[in-house]
Amino acid sequence: MAHAAEPARSHLDTVGHSNGSIGVAPETAPADAWKQASLYHAERQARPGPRTQEEDPKLPDPKPAREPTFVPAPGRYEAMQYRRSGASGVMLPALSLGFWHNFGPAVPPERRRAIVCRAFDLGITHLDLANNYGPPPGSAEESLARILESDLGPYRDELVISTKAGYGMWPGPYGDFGSRKYMLASLDQSLRRMGLDYVDIFYSHRPDPATPVEETMGALDSAVRQGKALYAGISNYGPVEAKRAIDVLRRLGTLLLIHQPSYSMLNRWIEGRLLDVLAEEGVGCIVFSPLAQGQLTDRYLNGTPAGSRVTHSPFLTEDTVARNMPRIRALNEIAARRGQTLAQMALAWALRDQRVTSAVVGASSVEQLEANVRALEGAPFAPDELAAIDACLA
Ligand code: NDP
Repeated sequence: MAHAAEPARSHLDTVGHSNGSIGVAPETAPADAWKQASLYHAERQARPGPRTQEEDPKLPDPKPAREPTFVPAPGRYEAMQYRRSGASGVMLPALSLGFWHNFGPAVPPERRRAIVCRAFDLGITHLDLANNYGPPPGSAEESLARILESDLGPYRDELVISTKAGYGMWPGPYGDFGSRKYMLASLDQSLRRMGLDYVDIFYSHRPDPATPVEETMGALDSAVRQGKALYAGISNYGPVEAKRAIDVLRRLGTLLLIHQPSYSMLNRWIEGRLLDVLAEEGVGCIVFSPLAQGQLTDRYLNGTPAGSRVTHSPFLTEDTVARNMPRIRALNEIAARRGQTLAQMALAWALRDQRVTSAVVGASSVEQLEANVRALEGAPFAPDELAAIDACLA
């Protein structure tokens, strides 16, 4: 069924995308994402065998299969840098871990668990989720529930866990965009999937031109007042929309903690005005896809490896990678001269402006994550290096 009052989406589809690096906003397609979600959950309901407490809340609380045995690295806070989110009291790690990909059933649970536990050991205290991550939608939140149960639960107070609502999650007119009805129902579902009483940050995942911003921000404010979220966030809002959202929340008495826009060497739209607005308003900025979904790494320099994002995600195509390849190769040479991998240089570059609180990266292996954290060890950029990067991207 179509969204009853489907708003014009043209501006949504262009926010945050310069150079055609990502194509459409990564999460705007496919339009029928909610169908994946309902199929997934219908299949789970129909599955024979014992039902879990999560599937049937009337069952008694499940006993963890074992007591948590994970012992985090004692030095985990020494290597990581932490930056204050705007003018708030909250510090975030310079690198955060995103659950958009690599956290659904297609990835073995042991690998998911290893990535998250290693992240925690490296000082990555912020885990970024959304209702629709996995894939399929909802499964990343369920994966996190298992990892909290088996390992990280005792460290909840050392973690900043976020989730979002704004893209299609269930059929009908109440499962998408920014109505109060959708936002608050989705947050309740997310909390149930993660087995949490509260998230640290609840985001409006994208602006909804058909819903008054007062309604969407009112839902964030309610979530905070109900104790279901500690802070409010917005994502994919342009500078004008962001300013309106900040003003509305301020009038309601809730501060906007953070904005989550896309940003990478291939996609520099936030440099136009958004970063200035956020700095003026004391709002943090956590950038997503700083590696342009793996393009700003050595992943595609010698072809398309089996299992890479291009081979399974509708959001990154071989054509996009091929179009960007001349720039990627040139950037790779600059990185080598700096003694860094391209991924490390891309992350250091995304973090070179102190107004960027954190860069939220994805990883399909522990090795990728470990290599990425070493980005923080590199030397600051010299003016001629920045100029050479600009020249590659011109
Ligand atoms: P990145 O740009 O960091 O891309 C991550 C991918 O790059 C990995 O899955 C991996 O690809 C590859 N990669 C990572 N490190 C390395 C390395 N060292 N060497 C080689 N390849 C590497 O970010 P994502 O696009 O994954 O987004 C990160 C997070 O941002 C998401 O998980 C989500 O939390 C958030 N996000 C938010 C959005 C929003 O609208 N608010 C939209 C999109 C993302 P491969 O799988 O091929 O190995």
